[in-house]
Amino acid sequence: MGESMKPEFEKFATECFGAGAAEITFEISELIPMFTCIVEEMNRKGIEKDTIIRKSLRSICPECGTGLSGEVLLRTAAEMSVAGPANIGGSERIKAGVCDKADCSSKTIRFIWKRAAVPVEPPPSSKCFVATVAFGGEGAPEVATLREFRDRTLVRSLPGRLFVRFYYRLGPSLADGIERWPRVRSGIRLILRTITRFVRASF
Ligand SMILES: [Zn+2]
Repeated sequence: MGESMKPEFEKFATECFGAGAAEITFEISELIPMFTCIVEEMNRKGIEKDTIIRKSLRSICPECGTGLSGEVLLRTAAEMSVAGPANIGGSERIKAGVCDKADCSSKTIRFIWKRAAVPVEPPPSSKCFVATVAFGGEGAPEVATLREFRDRTLVRSLPGRLFVRFYYRLGPSLADGIERWPRVRSGIRLILRTITRFVRASF
């Protein structure tokens, strides 16, 4: 049953980290193929897996509405994909594909994967627009430090990634302004130097 859905999951997995809304629901028998496709796609894209799976995957009982978090499902799916459905150590009820609530008679459980609300990171060679313009070129040591901070620290946490995404939206027009107004430029330089000092101290 799961195998027949696999091409659909593969298509979903590639769309999952792009733009636009993407959501898919599936059954217990499809949990492993779904999980496998998503993880393969994340590996291809170099995306941090666990946090996104915790945030994106959940289950819901169509009768009583009981939902399980991605945390529990992540563990269950990982154990199932390694050991096979018969050998998982997680919830016996999930394994059997029934609601996790003891007094619920529902024999079905739906899994929902919502597109990760996490931006795909910019490629490492992307410019730090603002810093580049403020310091007059890609080669400035401050630019290198800030770029390293982005790649080593910022992109590893969700708030950091959101900041990077925001910055890359705003960056080009901000850089434009800096180029035009020298006073703004020296002000930005001062701010960035201060940030750079803190960043260097943290490495
Ligand atoms: Zn239920």
